[in-house]
Amino acid sequence: VAKQNRGSSYQFYNSEINARTLNRQTLERQLRQSVANGELELLYQPLLNLGNGRIIAAEALLRWRHPERGLLLPEHFIAVAEESGAIVPIGEWVIHHACTQVKRWQQKGFDLSLAVNLSNREFHQPHFIEQTLTALSETGIGAGSLQIDIPERAIMDNGTSSRQNMLRLTEAGVAFSVDDFGVGTSSLQRIRQLPIAKLKIDRSFIRALDNPDNLDVVTAMICMSHSLKLRVNAVGVERPEQLTLMQNYGCDEVQGNLIGRPLPAAEFEQMLARAAARGALPL
Ligand code: C2E
Repeated sequence: VAKQNRGSSYQFYNSEINARTLNRQTLERQLRQSVANGELELLYQPLLNLGNGRIIAAEALLRWRHPERGLLLPEHFIAVAEESGAIVPIGEWVIHHACTQVKRWQQKGFDLSLAVNLSNREFHQPHFIEQTLTALSETGIGAGSLQIDIPERAIMDNGTSSRQNMLRLTEAGVAFSVDDFGVGTSSLQRIRQLPIAKLKIDRSFIRALDNPDNLDVVTAMICMSHSLKLRVNAVGVERPEQLTLMQNYGCDEVQGNLIGRPLPAAEFEQMLARAAARGALPL
């Protein structure tokens, strides 16, 4: 009986693995078709400059309208896209689409920059440079209007090539920010070596600002960024008291649901128009 049971659990285990592999293969195939099928969408979240109370940029955040599973967040597909290589055409679509949209807003008179996310894998493929330069020239958005957010862990891999890749774009006017700052293992030395303009404090720190130890860490991150001559952004501001703390401690900019949730382009534009009419905080 034991032998039979072992046999059946082995069979069960095996079929479970098969099902997972199958799902994974299906997901990879569907992801590769997502661009051609027009299933990708971008939402835009405002970045608020605390120095002048104005929205200075829109961060493009990717969503996948999956044919059976509905609207998917990046956490459900970015890792598979990276591992399968589908991230490359997807990244190309994102930068092109986002640059086109922000150019349209600039033509309507909104003084706005764009922030896009780059995954670890995209960052280490030299052709992201050509991809970015092509998107800039085809859409006519100035390089000075583009900020590329790279995950903290991406800057720790690889030696000189990433620095040279980044320099090619910063020489053209593009700015780099380090995303999820504080949760990874980046070294200050590495940050100093690379052409980085901004650190974005991970939202896990902002969520726990009412804890005094955590507040000390965040204020230290703000001071450290300024000592390194970097701007600093607090991500995930949801409550007025978090905004007040960030204002009082000299944080340069914030983003979060209190300022504005990620919105489809048309709604984002309405929010921009309302904020411009008030000439003040979009709260
Ligand atoms: P991220 O770059 O750190 O983006 C900020 C994330 O925090 C977004 O999640 C945003 O919706 C969320 N967020 C901002 N403020 C708040 C808040 O006040 N409360 C809460 N609960 N959440 C807030 P999202 O859109 O799910 O994106 C997650 C991550 O996926 C991004 O983190 C980024 O690393 C990645 N990602 C998004 N779009 C792209 C893309 O086009 N390409 C690549 N490679 N990665 C992307």
